[in-house]
Amino acid sequence: MAGCQRCGLAKGRTNVVPGEGPETASIVFIGEGPGFHEDQQARPFVGPAGQFLDYLLGLAGLKRDEVYICNVVKCRPPQNRDPLPTELAACKPWLDEQLKLIGPKMVVTLGRYSMARWFPGQSISRIHGRPVERDGLTVVPMFHPAAALHQQSFRGMIEQDFKKLGALIAEKRSARVVEALTPRSTPAGPPPEPEPEAQQLSLF
Ligand code: URA
Repeated sequence: MAGCQRCGLAKGRTNVVPGEGPETASIVFIGEGPGFHEDQQARPFVGPAGQFLDYLLGLAGLKRDEVYICNVVKCRPPQNRDPLPTELAACKPWLDEQLKLIGPKMVVTLGRYSMARWFPGQSISRIHGRPVERDGLTVVPMFHPAAALHQQSFRGMIEQDFKKLGALIAEKRSARVVEALTPRSTPAGPPPEPEPEAQQLSLF
């Protein structure tokens, strides 16, 4: 990805910002595109929106280093303008590949560009915070954290959505524990060795 020349954003970038986090993360957060700080540091969400995202992750009971964080476009649009349809299309194969390699159980979209991949034509104001199951993947559309920085009135709503996300993850985690502890049938012979819990249960 580092030498990508698939669209015009390559000309203005300092760094490509692929994303960061564990390659086996069960949850992937997808924003819009790198801003100034991200472009400088080659890391996603490290500027003011990133600091707020770290706080929101905490409200959901998550730590930044246990989730994967990336964007729909991997290079900074000039003056932080919205990504163009051609840029979104040119960058899509990178995100496709990331999702294929990571294979998350849950995707949290941050803002309308990542939301559009799963909910084309939908309005974020209508569907924010409401999880949807799609082919074995839970997709949760969220407002972009920067929305709260631009408009203070969004803050409470975004915080509520992240608290609800934490509750959803806890619910899924307990469902997995129950499933792991429920015998499927009476086994013949000696019972199998229990698997180590930490490996068996990831975030949920
Ligand atoms: N906004 C985004 O959408 N992504 C970043 O990485 C930073 C700010």
